[in-house]
Amino acid sequence: MRRSRAFIPTTKEAPSDATLPSHQFLIRGGFINQQGAGLYNFMPLGKIVLEKIRAIVKEELDKAGCCEVQLSFVTPLSLWERSGRSEAMGKEMLRISDRHENSFVLSPTNEEAMVELVKNRVTSYKDLPLNLYQINTKFRDEARPRYGLMRGREFLMKDGYSFHASTEDMVREFDLMEATYKKIFTRLGLDFRVVAADSGAIGGEGSKEFHVLADSGEDTLVVCEACEYGANIETIFESEEEVDALNEKSYESLQEEKIAEKCSCGGKLSFKKGIEVGHIFQLGDKYSSALEAHFNDENGKPRPFEMATFGIGVSRLVASVIEQNHDESGCIWTKATAPYMVNILISNIKDEAQNSLGEALYAELQSQHVEVMLDDRKERFGFKMKDAELIGFPYTIVIGKELENGQVQIFDRRAKENISVNKDEIIEKIMELI
Ligand code: ATP
Ligand code: MG
Repeated sequence: MRRSRAFIPTTKEAPSDATLPSHQFLIRGGFINQQGAGLYNFMPLGKIVLEKIRAIVKEELDKAGCCEVQLSFVTPLSLWERSGRSEAMGKEMLRISDRHENSFVLSPTNEEAMVELVKNRVTSYKDLPLNLYQINTKFRDEARPRYGLMRGREFLMKDGYSFHASTEDMVREFDLMEATYKKIFTRLGLDFRVVAADSGAIGGEGSKEFHVLADSGEDTLVVCEACEYGANIETIFESEEEVDALNEKSYESLQEEKIAEKCSCGGKLSFKKGIEVGHIFQLGDKYSSALEAHFNDENGKPRPFEMATFGIGVSRLVASVIEQNHDESGCIWTKATAPYMVNILISNIKDEAQNSLGEALYAELQSQHVEVMLDDRKERFGFKMKDAELIGFPYTIVIGKELENGQVQIFDRRAKENISVNKDEIIEKIMELI
């Protein structure tokens, strides 16, 4: 992409309500812009990042045997009345009516619709297991939409639903999805933990959350430093008051025994803040029974499906990457999420030699399928460099005055270091770095 042709409206200032670095930098870097409370537009850079994350999620799920579908975003309210969830969803579920006074909702999640889709189409134990997922828009009229993409009202979610003939098989799929989610978050370059989560009335090992570790996270986790044990403190402390007190107190004054008995390895337990980016849940037959979705077992006897459900906050992940990877100058994208891997910055486009080297490198990197931006704008060097740091390209090739001596600089965004390279060795060096 030529920067002179791109739509990347970077700004010096962030809106006053943007308190988190991800919120500030995604707006300042021209990735997103706010349309209304909890409503965001994705501009070209934001859209590229979102699609990269979506592609990784899809690739890993498809490898694990899941099938992608796309359900209608608007669902009839009657479906939610039949499952008994209409009331429970409360005001978070936005209800609308059409010209014929029929009531609908903007889907906040899709258990009911997915059960309806499978009902009477999957009729035998021989057709099971089945894992269907979609990556599409959800709407939740959150009481307090905030922190940019972290808690939007309209957001992109991957929601998956699996159907099984037995509890054992559902648990097997639950474990497979845990492993698959770990692969996804590892590929995205995130530092995360899997923790036991509140499974409400269902109980047991039935629910796990995936948290990106960041001080700005809204959840408090207790994690073992020696083993993989981790839990959302909501599962350990019963009352809201206890959790609130915990958040305010220093960690030393905690009720150590209450936590220690949960992890048997004896390792040191510590507290971390986390951003919930995924949630997997063993549902059992809650929805299949309520909606009378049955299959015939080996003896020809009709039984409700055993189900599990799996969610990933795809748009929340865009912000989570930046919450974990930024500095005072802006975004630092991980290799898997960077909108462009390389930025070529021509310091002075009126300089014939600089210009032609920039064009040649641009053409060569494109032919090698490197995602590359050419900053060919008639702007000062300092301005273009600040922009590059704010946007967070992993590498910027700076073509400047040193070219007279046959040298260019490669700026490594994460290390904030310049490497001097001979102009004939740039491509080789870049290919080695990326
Ligand atoms: P939270 O506790 O953060 O409100 P939740 O438990 O309501 O999340 P789930 O119903 O489990 O969320 O949804 C699956 C995933 O969707 C979550 O793990 C989260 O990453 C994402 N998500 C949920 N609500 C929002 C939102 N308002 N904005 C962006 N992403 C969201
Ligand atoms: Mg959750």
